[in-house]
Amino acid sequence: MTKKELRESFRQAVFERDGYRCAMCGYSPPAEAWAGLPLPLDAHHICDRSKIPFGGYVRENGISLCPDCHTLAEVYHACGKPAPGYSSADLYTRIHSDYDTAVRHSLRIGCDEETVTNHFRLLDSVKAREAELAAELSQVADATTWELSCLDLNITDADLLLYGQGRF
Ligand SMILES: [Zn+2]
Repeated sequence: MTKKELRESFRQAVFERDGYRCAMCGYSPPAEAWAGLPLPLDAHHICDRSKIPFGGYVRENGISLCPDCHTLAEVYHACGKPAPGYSSADLYTRIHSDYDTAVRHSLRIGCDEETVTNHFRLLDSVKAREAELAAELSQVADATTWELSCLDLNITDADLLLYGQGRF
C-alpha cells in the first residue's frame, strides 16, 4: 500500500466508524460538503504521526473531528497542555480505544504478528520493571523524608533512642 492509499483508507475507516459525524460534538456536515476539498471533517491522529510506529494510520488512532473540535484537539500538539475534555485520553475514550491498542494496530502496518506480540511482551516486562523501580523509589523517598524531618526538628540520635524507649 502506498502512503497515499494508507492515508485514504485511514480516513475512510475513521469516518465510517464515526458515521460521518464529529465524534466529539456530533456535528453532521451536509452531504454536499463532502463533494469538494477541504473535507468537512478531519480524520485526526490522536497520537501524533511522529510518536507512534508506522504513523498510526489505523482506526484505533483516528477520530473524526469538525474544524472547531479539531482546533481544540490540536491545542495539545501545539503547547503540550490539552484543552479541557480534549486530551488524548479523552479522545481515545470517545472511540473506545487507548494508546496501547493504537500502537498494537499501527505496528501491524509494518510488522508481522510475531513481532507485534514480542513487542508487547517486551513492553509488559518494561512496565513491570518500572513499577518495581517506582515502588523502590517511593520507599527511598519515605526514608529520606523521615531523616530530613528529623534534621528540621533538630532531633538527635539520642532523642530518637529516648523516643523509642518511651514508645516500646
Ligand atoms: Zn465537533
